Order: sequence, then C-alpha cells, then structure tokens
Amino acid sequence: MKREIRVEDLVIEVRENLRRKRNVGFLFQPNGRLILDTPPRVERSVLKTMVRENLGWIRLRLRKVREEARVHPPLRIHNGGHIPYLGENLVVLWVKSEKSRVHRAGKVLEVHAPNARHVRRLVLEWYPGRASRAFAKQVERWAGLPWLRTRFKSWRHQYTRAQWGSCSEDGHVLFNTHLVKVPERLVEYVVLHELCHLKVHNHGPKFYSLMHEHMPDWEERRRELNDYQQILFGD
Ligand SMILES: [Zn+2]
Repeated sequence: MKREIRVEDLVIEVRENLRRKRNVGFLFQPNGRLILDTPPRVERSVLKTMVRENLGWIRLRLRKVREEARVHPPLRIHNGGHIPYLGENLVVLWVKSEKSRVHRAGKVLEVHAPNARHVRRLVLEWYPGRASRAFAKQVERWAGLPWLRTRFKSWRHQYTRAQWGSCSEDGHVLFNTHLVKVPERLVEYVVLHELCHLKVHNHGPKFYSLMHEHMPDWEERRRELNDYQQILFGD
C-alpha cells in the first residue's frame, strides 16, 4: 500500500527504504510531486514535522523542477513533434514515401516512410549515426593533446541513463549517445573531460587545472549540461 502524508495542500508519498540508515531523502519529481525516501519505521508525525520545518525550501524546489520539466519536456517523437538535435529543436515532418530515409533540411527533420507509424523508430535509428559524427568531430578537435598518442586506444558511444561519458584506465572512452541532443559546445566539453581523464584518472586539482588549461570556461559548460539531465530519461 502506498503511504502518504499531508501537510497543508501537499500530498507527499512516503517510501521506506531498507538501505537507508538515518537521513530522509527528498526526491523531487518532474511532475511536481515529492517523495520521501525514509529509513524503515519512521513515525508519520516525525515526517510531518520535518516537512513543516522545511516547507519554504520544499515549495521552492517543487516549483523549480516543474519549471525545468516545462523547459525540457520528456521527448515524444511523432509527426509534427519537436526533437532536440545538437541544441536545436527540429520539427519532425513525415513525408509519405515507399523508401524509408531521414533527411535534415534546416530546422525540419524529414522522415520519409510509407506510414507515420514508422516515424519514431526511424528517428531513433537516425540519432546514433549523427552522434558518431558529432563525437568523431570532437575527438578530431582534441587530437593534438600530447598524451593521447600513447594513452588513447578507442572510443564508442551508447545510450545510458547514468552519465555523459566514462573511460577505462587502459584508454577506451565511452560517450553517451544522448549527447547528440545537446549543444555542440557541451559535447566538446564532455569529450575533453574524458580525454583529460586519460592523463589524470581522478577529479583532483591536477585534473581541473588540465581542464582549465584547455577550456577556460569548462565550469560554465558543465552547469549548462546539468540543465539537460532530463534528456537522459527521454527516448
Ligand atoms: Zn570525470
């Protein structure tokens, strides 16, 4: 059974989490609801008091996540819909045709297909190819970094919901295919970040000074990229 508590006009779901030992987690959902992630067997009255004491902050956060969900709505791919591509919003236009293909013309993504039902699948198949090109371009852009010659073995990309990129100590780099949806300067940032890890494997001061040296505004780009987290949970 779902447990809920009410405080003023807020209805808040309570989820007991056996792995939680002490603190209560506040999970703000894009639909504007709050879930309390609590250790087992916390009294309702304790939770209510906790919510009441943090009410101002809670309302502010709820408003923020709702606004964010409006700016970056979850992706729904269909004829006439919009999809993100390298920071732009393309209109998806179904063009009736026997042969299936996807063709970008400026701000319009023409999806040629016998039936509008195929539009979503074709767009989802189109993204990875574009992602390969975007990553190849950025890897090429940074090819002059002196440590790459000996430490960089390969790169590839795949969809993940967890992180924008990762790399292994033996020189293999993995990028998140979802990055094809964000502005190119943010792709550039992620690629540099992973390539810098091939020289410094942690997030210590040496790593950040390396980032500064090659991309003085990397922090601003990282902040910008945070605004796109929602994309990780779309199609
Ligand atoms: Zn890192």
